[in-house]
Order: sequence, then structure tokens, then C-alpha cells
Amino acid sequence: MERIKIEKIVRAKRKTVRIDAISENSVCIYAPHNVSVQEIEKILLKHKRAIAKILSKAKVKRKFVESEKFPNTGKFYPLKIVENQTVPLIFENGTFRLSGNVKDKRKAFFEWYKARSAEIVSERVSVFSKRCGVEYRSVKITSAESRWGSCSKKGNLNFSYRIAMLPPFAIDYIVVHELCHIIEFNHSKAFYELVEKVLPDYGKSVRYLKENGYLFRL
Ligand SMILES: [Zn+2]
Repeated sequence: MERIKIEKIVRAKRKTVRIDAISENSVCIYAPHNVSVQEIEKILLKHKRAIAKILSKAKVKRKFVESEKFPNTGKFYPLKIVENQTVPLIFENGTFRLSGNVKDKRKAFFEWYKARSAEIVSERVSVFSKRCGVEYRSVKITSAESRWGSCSKKGNLNFSYRIAMLPPFAIDYIVVHELCHIIEFNHSKAFYELVEKVLPDYGKSVRYLKENGYLFRL
């Protein structure tokens, strides 16, 4: 996960250290006078999984301003507001270029991610449906904010528009996960054995999504 930034440390007459979420990657610390900054950093490191969980609930507050960073296939790139651009948003040379005329900036990003996710997912589903030996019916990109994907018993696959934000290995895991549901419509041991056959290293993706999932929101 990305480093947790300590926004501020409030010294107080207390016995324990309290951690409050400020944003998706920053916290405010309430600490006794005798606990050093180094000790606080140690505590953050020790409990980083639990903290990630708390932070995941802290809403990402997007401002859509110059230099703000947005994810694209696992990396974060700055936003540039540009004039004289006919399309609302493009990604070029490691920069998101948003037209200054766009009123609903979030929507411009949503549409961009949706289109990009559709491209990526259709390619990966076609690759992995063969490897998993399953046939699917349809693929749809949804506006889901909390789940990455879902699958119906009939083999209709749904993926969140946020898929394009993730690193390729995590995307592949989500695709394989949903495809394997066509065979095993549950999260049983048999289901995870199917996943493992195709992606022996899938545990890495599960952990990655658990710890970093909160970063990939609009
Ligand atoms: Zn599942």
C-alpha cells in the first residue's frame, strides 16, 4: 500500500494512541506526550492492514484540479486542464488532459474509465475464458463503486468501470475470479482451486486489492 501520511499529531493527556482517517491515505494522530514520532510511525506500520481498512471507508475527495493524480492501470498520473481540446478527456504521455470546457468533470473521468475498462476487460475475458475452459454470455461495464465484478448463473459478467484503474495482475485476477464462477457459483475450496489452476499466484492479487482497493475510486 502507499505510505500513510500523518497529517498532524495532536498531543493530549491520554494513555493510548488514536488514529483518525483524514483521507484515503492520511491520518490524524492523537497521542500521549511521551510517545515519540518514531514510535507513532512504528505503530502505523505494525497495524497497516487494519488502518487500510479504516481508510478504505474514508471517502476519496476528488477535486479535479491541475496536478491532482488519477490512476491508470495501477499507476497514478497528473491531471492537466487544457484549452482547445475537442474531446472531454484523453490520456496522453502520462497525463490526463481534461478540456477546460467540461462542466461535469467527474462524468468525463467516469466515461473515460468505462471505455478503457471495456477495452481491457474484453481482451482479458477472451484470453482467460479459453484458459479456464468456460463460455460466457455477455460482458458489461457497470458503475459499481464497491465491488469489482459479478457474474450471473447464466454467465453474464459484470465489471466495475474502476477496473482500468488497477494494475494488470489485479485485473487478471478479477477476470479469472468471475469466469470461474460460471463453473463454481460460490467461494468454496473447489472454486479457489479453479482460480489457482489459472493463476497460481492469485493470493498476491487478493492481498493487493484488500490493502489498496480504497485508492482506486473516483
Ligand atoms: Zn466471487
